[in-house]
Amino acid sequence: MRRCDVIVVGAGVVGTALAWELSRRGRHVVTLERFEYLHTRGSSHGATRGFRLADRDAALVASARRSLPLWRELEDDSGVQVLTQTGSVDHGDGDELRAVAAALDTEGVAYDVLTAEAAHERWPGMRFAGPVLYQPDGGRLLAEEALKAYTTAAAAHGAEVYYQQPVLSIEEVEGEGVVAITDFDEYIGRVVVVAAGAWAPAVLDEVAPAPPITVTQEQVFHFLPRTDGMEWPCFAHYGEPIVYGLETPEEGVKVAEHRTGAVVDPDQRNSEIDPAGEERVVRYVEQWLPGLETWATTATTCLYATAPEERFSIKRHGSIVVAAGFSGHGFKHAPAVARTLAELALTP
Ligand SMILES: Cc1cc2nc3c(=O)[nH]c(=O)nc-3n(C[C@H](O)[C@H](O)[C@H](O)COP(=O)(O)OP(=O)(O)OC[C@H]3O[C@@H](n4cnc5c(N)ncnc54)[C@H](O)[C@@H]3O)c2cc1C
Repeated sequence: MRRCDVIVVGAGVVGTALAWELSRRGRHVVTLERFEYLHTRGSSHGATRGFRLADRDAALVASARRSLPLWRELEDDSGVQVLTQTGSVDHGDGDELRAVAAALDTEGVAYDVLTAEAAHERWPGMRFAGPVLYQPDGGRLLAEEALKAYTTAAAAHGAEVYYQQPVLSIEEVEGEGVVAITDFDEYIGRVVVVAAGAWAPAVLDEVAPAPPITVTQEQVFHFLPRTDGMEWPCFAHYGEPIVYGLETPEEGVKVAEHRTGAVVDPDQRNSEIDPAGEERVVRYVEQWLPGLETWATTATTCLYATAPEERFSIKRHGSIVVAAGFSGHGFKHAPAVARTLAELALTP
């Protein structure tokens, strides 16, 4: 039996951010991860994620704003640049844009509204049909680099992480804390934090209430710019469905539909690209992104674990903290989420 202060289940972005947050506060953390380092079966793999303050939910605007300096702290601690602020651009459905503007106003976050013509002049690779909300703090996170930075910085603060050690069960022990059992060993800590993404209900297995999540297999594509030197912001286009994108260094511009994937069992999914979905994204690029070539150079699948109203599900039940339901937009919030989780985990 190995002892530590906090056991973290899952080394996706939430688990690795938490391991860093706790270890830099001097806590002894052990992370147990089911698959190999930087595996591609969950929600956190791939080169990039969008970073945006713009959101229709003021609580998420505040969370992204709290995360911004914390991403910079990770960069200072690890020596790795993970966040590039290219600005974010929202356009499309007027009600959505008004809701985003209202949430930014609530949080006192500055933004500009441009005409479609002015926006096209600034980002000639994109087409717009109405007002465009520009928020300068948005940009792009290097996702894989962020996972590596969290992992190496946490290790430098004494955190331990074990890969290919699925947690098979969790048991609370009266007066002692909580035990996580794998095929290799048993770990005892004061608290266990389950940051297992799409697998959170399976890991909890009735030891604590399962978060209400729906798991879907989503897909993202990259398209090469027709000319070099064009500026590409992180964008969200509100329509049916929402389409989002951002520039990924070397791979081109990522373009994807938000939440159109099939509901899947995370252990049974096929990871195959849905050709009808790819066709829709290609048609979207032809219509709205004239600065891009119209064939995808990469196509990848990834899991969303979506909670009701896309609200994160973060709760403590006795010695067990559950963090799930990041609903296809959790990456940018990982530093603020980790801070909340650390406080929950360290509350006596
Ligand atoms: C296509 C796509 C695009 C996205 N775009 C954006 C974006 O632009 N901006 C943004 O902010 N967010 C975005 N997101 C969302 C963001 O990536 C996720 O919200 C985030 O990665 C969730 O991280 P996680 O740590 O909760 O889950 P995961 O990364 O899935 O990590 C959970 C980990 O738990 C492990 N695990 C499971 N069971 C066990 C067990 N029994 N024992 C040990 N370990 C276990 C898993 O192997 C996994 O490594 C996107 C997601 C997808 C899929």
